[in-house]
This record gives sequence, structure tokens and C-alpha cells, in this order.
Amino acid sequence: MSAHRTIPFYLHSLGPNDGQKMQDVLATPFLTSGAVCRAVEEQLCGFFNVPHALLVNSFTNGAIAALLALGIGPGDEVIVPASTFIASANVVELVGAKPVFADVDPDTLCLDMESVKAALSERTKAIMLVHLYGAYFDVRPFAQLAREKAIYLIEDCAHCFEGSFDGIQPGQLSDLAIFSFYATKNITCGEGGAVICRDKGLYDALSQTRQHGMSAGAINRFKDGGYNHWDMARLGTKANLPDLLAALLPNQIDTVFERREMRQTVAANYRQALEGMGIKMPQWCKGGTHAHHLFPIWVVPTMRDKVIAGLNAQGVNVTVNYHSVPSMQYYKTKGYDAHLYPVSLNWGLGTLSLPLYPSLKEEDQAYVVQALAQAVSAAA
Ligand SMILES: *Cc1c(COP(=O)(O)O)cnc(C)c1O
Repeated sequence: MSAHRTIPFYLHSLGPNDGQKMQDVLATPFLTSGAVCRAVEEQLCGFFNVPHALLVNSFTNGAIAALLALGIGPGDEVIVPASTFIASANVVELVGAKPVFADVDPDTLCLDMESVKAALSERTKAIMLVHLYGAYFDVRPFAQLAREKAIYLIEDCAHCFEGSFDGIQPGQLSDLAIFSFYATKNITCGEGGAVICRDKGLYDALSQTRQHGMSAGAINRFKDGGYNHWDMARLGTKANLPDLLAALLPNQIDTVFERREMRQTVAANYRQALEGMGIKMPQWCKGGTHAHHLFPIWVVPTMRDKVIAGLNAQGVNVTVNYHSVPSMQYYKTKGYDAHLYPVSLNWGLGTLSLPLYPSLKEEDQAYVVQALAQAVSAAA
């Protein structure tokens, strides 16, 4: 075994030039959502070929603003995969609606259509698709179902900015796609996110629910040289992104495909090296272009924590993404039964994620693989 090293779980790709972009904003009087955000929103519209984009200060706040704009609240249900990060379900709880879980496909871990159909009720207002780990899957069948049932289709694209399926990108077949620019995501400004949509009415509503429900944001109140009165048209939250952080985004959006390629290389190397090690990995959807946000694997649940400890002892940092959402204490206490979603439950008990980022060197990837082989054999 080669000499001991430390492999961080995640490293961002920002540098000194990005610091300068924040300095440039500091030199202007307007630190919050202004010209920089506007420019990035236009850039997003171009990237996704949609007419509307709104920057927000997190996926979570953007999704809350989105659900408020759709009028989803108490008495309504939203179908959410049981295998995802808790935020996908929490936002439904936070607006007073009810998350109804559906299980995922055991091979791809993408939302399972039969399970979604079984979760539908008269109170269902929306389906939340999650492109987990960066796997952009075929949304067409879900878009068709949503149309048939006259319900909304929302995409959680926190893991998948740069993915596509058969040429279809986020937001093209759904009502809304929501992104996260949180510290560890493929595109980051520390905390942040975006919502894209195609409907002008929904965009107008979102523009208000993103900012207290005000009829005009700060920048518009001083438009045309004088003060303009504003009203509160509806209830909103505070989800707008400041220009200070938005300044970090344009360059990352421009170069995202370069980093996708680097991520793809790392993921393909891992996949090949782990084949035959008795480790399960999710299948990548045929026809899909993966964003490779995370590289999760699955080991027998009784071994998982020993494997993590073995990797940590060798300096390899890993995380668990994710325990099934209905198995969380909060949801259990609310009466959810994680056993009703066995694929998600079992995946969550055995999964761990390996380090994956564009700057992860080949020798470090090899070290991770070696360390994993050793940790697995020691745990068996
Ligand atoms: C990170 C993440 C979120 C939440 O994003 P924030 O910007 O931190 O609110 C939502 N869904 C998934 C799948 C995530 O991984």
C-alpha cells in the first residue's frame, strides 16, 4: 500500500479570480439582488433554453417560494422519492402540505413509476422528481402522467445542473426545475440556487414569493430616478440571492461542461476499478448524460460503518448520501413507515459516497480504490 495520505471528500474549483469578482460587487453601492443577478438569470435562460429564471439563496428557500407560488399548502399532497436528501420533502412540510413518499428503482435509484402511481390521490398537487447523484433520467413518462392528472411536475435538480436525457434538459418538460448552489454542489457560490420555469404567470408569482410577496423588489422601487410605492400582493418568503454571491456563478456556468467531463472520467475510473469487488453501484440511465455529482456505492448494511471507519483510518473522507427520508426520526414520529419503501430503506442502510471532484488526481483515485478494497476485506 502506498504512503498514507488524506483525501478530502470534496474540493470546490473556485480561485483568486473569483475573489476579484466579489470585490467588484463590493465597489458598487448595491450588494443584494441587482444587475449581477439579472445577468446570471439571463445566462441561465440561455443555458436551459427557457424564458424565465430566478436566482435564490438556496434550493430550500427557492422551493418554498415555488410551492407558495403554485398555491400548494395545507390539505395538499406532493409525491417525493423516499431516497433523496431531506430538503426535497422538508419544503413540502414547511408550506403545510404533506409529502407522500414513493420508492425508487432498485437498479437506477430513480423514482419508480408504479410506486408514484400508487401514491397518487385526490389531494396530490405535484410530483417532485429528484435527479439523484446527477442522474438525469427520462422525465417524459412523468410529464405525461402529470398532464393526465392535471398536477404539477417539479424537478429537484440540486445534483444535476449539467445533465440531460436524449437532449432533454432540466425545466423543459416540467413546470419548475430547482437548483442548489450550496457549498458542495457542482456549481457553487457557498449558498444559493435557482428556479427556472416556462410559464409567465408562474414566473410573476415566483418573483413575488421570492421576496416577501412584495409587488416590486428593492431595485425596482428606485427605478426611473424616484421612489415607487409597493404593495404586498401575496404571502412570500425571503429567497433572493445577493449580487455578492451571484458574482461567483457566471464563470462556473460557462465552464460546467469541462468539469462534467473531468467528473465523468473520475466516475468511469471508479466504476471500472470497483467492478468485481462485490460492491453495488447504481446503474447509469441509458440515454442519459450524468452530472456525476456524487459517487455512491452500496455494501452489505452490517459492513457499512466498518467500511467507513476503515476508509477514515486510511485518510479517505466519505459521507452517507442518504438514509431514506421516512426513516428519519422526524418523519417516523409523524407516523411514516420507512419499510413501505424497501428499496430506499435498504439503499440508505448500505450506502456511502466516495470523494469525487474535478481536481481529484488519478493517483488519489487509485489510493481511494485501494483503501476501499482493504476496508471491505477487513469488514467482511
Ligand atoms: C443539497 C440538496 C438540496 C438542498 O439544497 P440547499 O441549497 O442546501 O437548500 C435539495 N435536494 C437535494 C437532492 C440536495 O442534495
